[in-house]
Amino acid sequence: MAAHIQLKRGKEESLRRFHPWIFSGAIERIAGEPAEGDIVEVRTHGGDFIAMGHYQIGSIAVRVLSFGELTIDQQWWNRRVAVAADLRRSLGLRDNPLTTCYRLIHGEGDSLPGLVVDIYDRVAVVQCHSVGMYRSRSQIAEAIRTVMPEIEAIYDKSSQTVPYNAQLGAVDGYLWGAGGEESRTVLENGHKFSVNWVKGQKTGFFIDQRCNRYLVGRYARGRRVLNTFCYTGGFSVYALAQGAREVYSVDSSERAVRLADENVVLNFGPEVNHTAIAADAFEYLRQTDEKFDMIILDPPAFAKHHKVLGNAMQGYKRLNARALSMIEPGGILFTFSCSQAVSKELFRTTVFSAAAIAGRKVRILHQLTQPADHPIDIYHPEGEYLKGLVLFVE
Ligand code: SAH
Repeated sequence: MAAHIQLKRGKEESLRRFHPWIFSGAIERIAGEPAEGDIVEVRTHGGDFIAMGHYQIGSIAVRVLSFGELTIDQQWWNRRVAVAADLRRSLGLRDNPLTTCYRLIHGEGDSLPGLVVDIYDRVAVVQCHSVGMYRSRSQIAEAIRTVMPEIEAIYDKSSQTVPYNAQLGAVDGYLWGAGGEESRTVLENGHKFSVNWVKGQKTGFFIDQRCNRYLVGRYARGRRVLNTFCYTGGFSVYALAQGAREVYSVDSSERAVRLADENVVLNFGPEVNHTAIAADAFEYLRQTDEKFDMIILDPPAFAKHHKVLGNAMQGYKRLNARALSMIEPGGILFTFSCSQAVSKELFRTTVFSAAAIAGRKVRILHQLTQPADHPIDIYHPEGEYLKGLVLFVE
């Protein structure tokens, strides 16, 4: 018999509402000594089957793979990947001549908690966040090959994302296909980006800003733009393509700044009006007395968990207040938070405080989120991690 977990009385409630996590505090008893990453059955206090999923030692003890009793075999993996791939097809992201990078699997949003798969041209980059997914990586690769014959190589980039305590000794590398390759040039809405999945941050590119970059392009004409936390220069490329007068890209990573420059040159050649600056964005904003018609603030997650939320919100407030004070009348601020711990409401209140500190009249033009290839399971609202506001500043 498979190992199973018995819940405390009443703790099955969230599972009846299909929430995909079981916290360690909800567990009464673990039978059968499961190893980390094993598939376990979860039972109510009364002994009824309620879910099955990957077991892990930690605050989230089980990540649910199925609420029905079934066998998790290769066919099951193929089916899950096929459902995810079909969704991307219906979103117009597979076989799209203008956009050749997209997210194929977005964890809980694709009923595969702990797994991210991004597609760069014909290369799939797999990132496992749980022990169970890491131990299933061969089956995941097999499923991708079966469902998506167009894929030429599958790279596993989990060494930085699997739980450290599990001591899995994870080493990044190819699960399948010709090794050795590190990067490709992909298209996003017709713009070119060089993506290096081996050396880049996350899986190599921040695919989640695709639609928001497009919106930046729509407002960019004739404007002097400051793109902070620019990484590969995504927002800068869209702004320049749509006729921004001048664009400054700032990131604390030298490598990121070089990438932003490379991507700008890749699209427009060396003659374009773009300046890339390696600097701490807080310092840069504090020291400069320049004004801009458009500023983009896309910082990394300041609040990785709830304990540091207070400090994180101070950080967001300071950043936004300073940026708002540097915007010319009639200018636009694009401001984002990608911290899962920061709710939409909290983010908005914080930006509201920042506006009051800057003493500017500010109106909200758009409220932004992640694109449809990063879907949110309705039973797992925590999955809505990307929040953005577009502000008109008088
Ligand atoms: N806007 C980007 C993604 C930003 S990711 C895009 O569209 O792709 C966050 C970036 O912030 C990373 O590139 C990281 O190097 C940078 N960063 C982190 N701390 C920073 C700081 N204090 N100042 C400037 N950049 C910083």
